[in-house]
Amino acid sequence: MSPFKYTYMFKNKPKCLICDTTLRDGEQMPGVVFSPEEKIELAVKSSEFGTDIIEVMPTISISERILTKELSNMGLNSEITASTMLKKEHIEMAVDCGVSSVTLFTPLSDLHLKYKLKIGREENLNRALDMVDFSKEHGLKVYFAGEDSTRADINYVIQFINELSNKIEYFIPCDTLGCLTPFATYSFIKKLKENCKTPLCLHIHNDFGLSTANTLAGLSAGAEIFSGTFCGIGERAGNAPIEEVCTALRFLNGIELSVNYSMLTEICNLVELYSGMKLQSHKPIVGENAFTHESGIHADGVIKHPGTYENFDPEFVGQERRFLFGKHTGKGILKHILEKYGLLHGDLNNMLKRIKELSESYHHSLTETEVINLLTHNEDLIRMEVHELEHHSSLTPDIQTQPDLLNL
Ligand SMILES: [Zn+2]
Repeated sequence: MSPFKYTYMFKNKPKCLICDTTLRDGEQMPGVVFSPEEKIELAVKSSEFGTDIIEVMPTISISERILTKELSNMGLNSEITASTMLKKEHIEMAVDCGVSSVTLFTPLSDLHLKYKLKIGREENLNRALDMVDFSKEHGLKVYFAGEDSTRADINYVIQFINELSNKIEYFIPCDTLGCLTPFATYSFIKKLKENCKTPLCLHIHNDFGLSTANTLAGLSAGAEIFSGTFCGIGERAGNAPIEEVCTALRFLNGIELSVNYSMLTEICNLVELYSGMKLQSHKPIVGENAFTHESGIHADGVIKHPGTYENFDPEFVGQERRFLFGKHTGKGILKHILEKYGLLHGDLNNMLKRIKELSESYHHSLTETEVINLLTHNEDLIRMEVHELEHHSSLTPDIQTQPDLLNL
């Protein structure tokens, strides 16, 4: 890792907590609908991973209320909190679902208050105080989210938090539009920390692709908790991806969280499958290319020492190292793969020429399996060691479906 890690900014932070909103904000991503069974599986995985709080929204449908009741009764390690509008009947629904806490929310920016709620700042605050009291009278712990806090008058945000401070567990200053930079996030959170005693939970959107960076900046400024989703799914461009924030905290800031990092890829693959939101190949940490090497210089370096082009062992996050073969491939990785499968070297230049021709004609790189298929079925390229190939027979299952590979 780089010697320029800014660990000093985190030196007084023994840990931070994670609020997983994959099942609430994540499902609000246009096009995403999880089934109740999928939500239960994702909640169980999230809890096993080590998130502290899982957010759901029981008021949106009857099935969501049934689900919330079920999740509340499962005895998960993660606490289930119900995201709830400032309405008595919604808070009562949350109580009926058996949750121990509600996350109440209201906007704080004048823009939202004027055009959306058509009320002033004072009325907004009074409504919030009333509903916090109402929730507490029903035995609920209260978390409070200030929607669009980062576009609100910061003096109002500070006043709002302080008026609630004795009644709520933590406040969530939402960057609803994802419109801060890391430096602005740091200043914003620092100012809140200087003026408010209430713990803060970051909830940052990704409209400018800065959600991970802004979350790290906010945590370094003193926020105690962050909210995010697996794969970063969420409204519009999404939320802070839990897998990125946790891994960056671990490797770039020296904050070891009490989570099972090796579950990250498995959970993100499940979210990808159930949400239908395809992960981009070059998605950090869990993307297919995150630990894939093709160019000759990189692949050769990784063979000699993985640290040359990998920040950490891919297994740490449940990933695996892959090599691809194409126009940038060098002889080093080809030799390495041949030796790995016990194949004789043959003429490496000729083999590389064929691999490059094929990948160019296909407009994509070849996988390790495809290269082995190619080489072991072209005797002019290589002579097989039969017993080795039998040992690796599972690597050549696609021959019938890839006749082109045989006809070079
Ligand atoms: Zn959000």
